[in-house]
Amino acid sequence: MPPSLLNRRAAAAALVALPVFWTGARAQPAQPRRATPSQTEGPFYPVSLPKDADADLLRSGTLEYRGGQPSWVEGSVTDLQGKPLAGAQVEIWQCDETGHYHHPGDRGGKADPAFQGFGRVTVGADGSYRFRTIRPVAYSGRTPHIHVKVKLGSRELLTTQLYVAGDPGNERDGIWRRLDEQARAAVTVPFIAGTGGLHATFPIVVAA
Ligand code: FE
Repeated sequence: MPPSLLNRRAAAAALVALPVFWTGARAQPAQPRRATPSQTEGPFYPVSLPKDADADLLRSGTLEYRGGQPSWVEGSVTDLQGKPLAGAQVEIWQCDETGHYHHPGDRGGKADPAFQGFGRVTVGADGSYRFRTIRPVAYSGRTPHIHVKVKLGSRELLTTQLYVAGDPGNERDGIWRRLDEQARAAVTVPFIAGTGGLHATFPIVVAA
């Protein structure tokens, strides 16, 4: 092959290759994370937040809650690029062991005053959060779940629900079933026996 033709071929190959290279350079990172799917807030977000609204739901003021299965729920809040979302607030709320919320709309009964029922933490530079609560329990028509909300300043970035992997109620739950397989996997995590109770790790990914 004459050298001129070789050069032309090389130039043509480079032209074809260039746009591919550019696309690759623009798309960073190679595999952006999928945002944690949102779920309905439900009717029981607190009307007014409890005085004690820290990360320990098993202690409300001076009262200690002894019901349910103590559990650690932890993870980190990151954006779609995997960067920790420092300053984000994670809120959780759930019913007590008997299936009742601290909410006037829960007409079936009253939640135990020792169960805080709601907690909020602001994540630090590493994006991590940690709550002490109980393994969620089922109540009328719902599989066990913990409600989760993520805020950044005045913006609500996510409202969702966290489920217990392997719970037989999941398959019968209308709200859980609405999710596709990948979304179910993102919000359904194992509660594993460990130090100080069960441990559940729930990574939260939000578009910030
Ligand atoms: Fe609920």
